Amino acid sequence: MTVGRAGLKACTTSVTWFVIVASLVVVVAQAVAQQPNPNAAANFVKVQGPVIALTHVRVIDGTGAPPRDDQTVVIRDGILAAIGDGSRTAAPDGATVVDLAGRSVIPGLVMLHEHLYYTTGPGVYGQLGMSFSRLYLAGGVTTMRTAGNTNGIMDINLARRIAAGELAGPAIDATAPYVNGPSTFLQMHSLNNADEARKHVAYWAEQGATSLKAYMQISRDTLKAAIDEGHRRGMKTTGHLCSVTYAEAADLGIDNLEHGFFAATDFVGDKQPDVCPGQARGQQTIAALDENGEPFKALVRKLVDKHVALTSTLTVFETFTAGRPLPPGLDVLTPQLKETFQRAYDRAAQNTQSVYATLFPKAMRLERAFAKAGGLLVAGTDPTGAGGVVPGYADQRQIELLVDAGFTPLEAISIGTLNGAKYLGRDARIGSIAQGKQADLVVIDGNPSVKIADVRRVETVFKNGVGFDPAKLIESVKGSVGIW
Ligand SMILES: [Zn+2]
Repeated sequence: MTVGRAGLKACTTSVTWFVIVASLVVVVAQAVAQQPNPNAAANFVKVQGPVIALTHVRVIDGTGAPPRDDQTVVIRDGILAAIGDGSRTAAPDGATVVDLAGRSVIPGLVMLHEHLYYTTGPGVYGQLGMSFSRLYLAGGVTTMRTAGNTNGIMDINLARRIAAGELAGPAIDATAPYVNGPSTFLQMHSLNNADEARKHVAYWAEQGATSLKAYMQISRDTLKAAIDEGHRRGMKTTGHLCSVTYAEAADLGIDNLEHGFFAATDFVGDKQPDVCPGQARGQQTIAALDENGEPFKALVRKLVDKHVALTSTLTVFETFTAGRPLPPGLDVLTPQLKETFQRAYDRAAQNTQSVYATLFPKAMRLERAFAKAGGLLVAGTDPTGAGGVVPGYADQRQIELLVDAGFTPLEAISIGTLNGAKYLGRDARIGSIAQGKQADLVVIDGNPSVKIADVRRVETVFKNGVGFDPAKLIESVKGSVGIW
């Protein structure tokens, strides 16, 4: 639309001038809005439509139930409208039909120890939210909780912009900046007492944070105040603890503990209250712990009785353990970060005397014992350490490692989907494939109920019924993860 000379001559009243100026503003605004936005979620979409029918697909529903072959899954307005045998469930007229013969669908992954930052230097964490949110989605993650935040507002802003459909990524349960006591971490605030903890939680809740993560130097009093202030505001607290034992945290009302039992200091003989004896001291006691002994069983009973969930993050510990394969996804990193990780991996490979040689398999058995005792085991990846835990790729690896730990493939898929949804209190909506639930689905070329490694073969990721293309998402960040 343009405004010609003849039109201008005819304008005699200020009202008409107002209309013309207003029209020009609209034209300019439209031109700005129409400039292509390379970050828009729409750029990564592969399948879209008001009604989509996935036909001839194997459904692995996330509950642990046996897979059902040759199903038709109908998605209508982002919801799973119908699921049934292909012979009896027809694709509705006008539906976009996708033939998925030979493919499986599992629920979108719900992963609970994710970060939007990465180790970019010793003790320094760069904010990589733009690339990470795409990689998570490409890997099949449709909902995630960040387990700690070193930036302040980025987790919250990304959660909002993804929810608004402006950026591609999973739904994000965004943590406030870490709840920690005085420490040497340059990117962490120090909370010195209960009053400071309450103010911190209140401020970040008002900014939009929906979750809390406590860290290694917190005191019991400060932690208790944060947990209670969070609960008042409907926020759950998890912790990577050290100064506070798992049993103490359970008594204080914590909702979740991170890193399986890798971070427990409950068995350190001379543990002083409110003091972290060092992560290594705790890990030596876990490596030596009798998994059939009464002290461990008593701790598990307490966690189960108090409904404290436990997050398995085997992926980050695998990178410290000699004899393990190179982690997947390193090619998306900047060359510098990739080299830095390769050096760390080589050092770990040579360090066969490391505690991880016994700790890593022991921790796997402890996590399984917790789940067998009725505990809610959930999954996450923790993209920190020496680098090498690459979002999306690591989420798939975490599911594989749960199978290494002794879970069946169906149990591992359930831990990475429905259990996460249960922890978040969102299992009525997400976490399994059932009629009426949100259409969050991962289309896999293969059958991960038989061969878990097939979880890496992701063809399409449906989030709210929109099918995203993993290849496009990955291509858009490849070689530059580490910069933004
Ligand atoms: Zn972490």
